[in-house]
Amino acid sequence: MNTSNNQEPIRDTEAFRDSIATVDKQGHRKWIFPKKPKGRYYNARTYLSWFLLAFLIIAPFIKVNGEQLLLFNILKRKFILFGIVFTPQDFHLFVFAMLIGIVFIILFTVVYGRVFCGWACPQTIFMEMVFRKIEYLIDGDASAQRKLAKAPWTTEKVIKRVLKHTIFFAIAVFITNIFLSYIIGMDELKRIISEPVSEHLGGFIAMLLFSGAFYFVFSWMREQVCIAVCPYGRLQGVMLDQNSIVVAYDFIRGEPRGKKRKKKVPDAVEASPLGDCIDCKLCVQVCPTGIDIRNGTQLECVNCTACIDACDAVMDKIDRPRGLIRYDSLKGIKEGQKTIFTGRVKAYTAVLTVLLIAVGVMFSFRTNVEAIISQVRGTKYQEVGENQISNIFMYDIVNKMGRTIPAELRIKDGLGKIDYIGSPLDSIYMPNVTGRFSVTVDKKNLKGRKTKLVLEVVSDGKVVTREKINFVGPYR
Ligand code: SF4
Ligand code: SF4
Repeated sequence: MNTSNNQEPIRDTEAFRDSIATVDKQGHRKWIFPKKPKGRYYNARTYLSWFLLAFLIIAPFIKVNGEQLLLFNILKRKFILFGIVFTPQDFHLFVFAMLIGIVFIILFTVVYGRVFCGWACPQTIFMEMVFRKIEYLIDGDASAQRKLAKAPWTTEKVIKRVLKHTIFFAIAVFITNIFLSYIIGMDELKRIISEPVSEHLGGFIAMLLFSGAFYFVFSWMREQVCIAVCPYGRLQGVMLDQNSIVVAYDFIRGEPRGKKRKKKVPDAVEASPLGDCIDCKLCVQVCPTGIDIRNGTQLECVNCTACIDACDAVMDKIDRPRGLIRYDSLKGIKEGQKTIFTGRVKAYTAVLTVLLIAVGVMFSFRTNVEAIISQVRGTKYQEVGENQISNIFMYDIVNKMGRTIPAELRIKDGLGKIDYIGSPLDSIYMPNVTGRFSVTVDKKNLKGRKTKLVLEVVSDGKVVTREKINFVGPYR
C-alpha cells in the first residue's frame, strides 16, 4: 500500500508481482492443490496429450530404411530424424537449424505467447495429463487432497500415499527408459534389459538416478520447474509485449468485480453496475501455478487454459457470453479488437512459415553420401601410350546411411576409365572411406589444359552422389 500527498491510501495494483504465489512470506513453499479442470480446452489438451504421448512411446519402435525413426545418440555422434541419418559432417545443418530455431521460438513467443507451454511442453503434459490425473484418481479433487494432506497418518492415508508414489516412481522409470531409447536406440535398450543387471551395473545405477530425478520433478518440484527452472519460462518477460496473444482476463468487461444478486427479472445481471466477474475465484482455484490471472499476465502463467474453462462454465451459469478469460492480447482487450489474427500476427506467421520452409529446403539438399575428390599433390598428368592421358586423384567418401553400402566409382558418360591404386573400392562403410585412383582419358576427349569431368559414386546401380573433377592435360 502506498500513500498519496493528501494521505489517502493508494492500492498498489502491482504488489502481487513482489512475490510468487507458491512461496509464503517466510519463504516456505505453499503447496498448490488445483481443482480438477473441465471444459472444452481441457478436453482438447487431453486428446492432444494422448497423441503426443503415444508418439513419444511408439516412435522408438518405428524403423525407416532399417533405422530408428528418431535417434539422438550423443555418445556415438549419430542423429536420426525421421529415418535420415545425420553425422558430424552435417554439423553445419544443425547450426543453421538451431539458429533458425532460436529465431522461430522468439518470434513464435512474441506472437503467440506461451502456447507451447500449455499444449505441448513435456513437463506440462506429464504433470497435468499423467501425474495429476493419477493424483485426482487416488487422492480425489482439490478439497479432498487438502484434507488428506492435513490428516493424521491413518491406514487409509498410508495406503494412498504408498500407492500414489509407487505408481509415480514406476512411471518415472518408464519415462527414463523411453528417453534412453531415443539416446542409445531401442535395439540396444532391449538388449541391455534382457541381460543380467550385473553386466550393466553402471548403466542400471544411472537409470535409477534419472528415474529418481523424474520422480522428484513430478512428485515434488511440479510447477516450480516452470516458474524457477525452465529458461524459456524465465525469458517470457523479455519476449512478450502488449500485442502477444496470451491467456488474459478481460478487465474492461469483468471489472468492477463482485457478487451479483440472484436474477429476479431476466435482465437483472445486465442492469447491475458491476462487471461480469462475480469474484467466485474458480479461475484461481483451478490454476496449477496458484496465480490470479485477473491481476494480468504473470511469469507463472503457463497458458494451460484451465482458468478459461472454469470461467466459461461460470459465464454459462450466469447467462453471460463466454470469454471473460480468453486467448487475447492486452491491446486487443483495451481496444476491444474482435479478432486476434491482426495484421501483425499474420505478418509474423508468414515469417515463421518462411523460416520453416527454409529449414525444409536446407535439409532436402542434404545427401546421404558425400564425396570429396582432389588431385594428389605433386603429381602431374601422365601420357599413357600415344593417345591417352591419366591423372591421379584421392577420394574421401562420407557415408551417412547408417550402414555399409556397396559402391563403385565411374566417370559420367564413359569419358574416362578408373583404376584403383591399392585396394579397389567395393563398399563404403561408416563414417567414411579414403583411397586413391587414376583416371585415364582419350586425348580426343580433352578440352585444353583443364577438362571438367563428373565422377559418380554408384551404389546398387544408383548414382548416390556426383562430384566435378578437374582433369589436367597438356597444352594444345
Ligand atoms: S472464474 Fe471468472 S467470474 Fe469467477 S472469479 Fe474468475 S474471472 Fe471472475
Ligand atoms: S492463469 Fe490460467 S492459464 Fe495461466 S497457469 Fe493459471 S490456470 Fe493456467
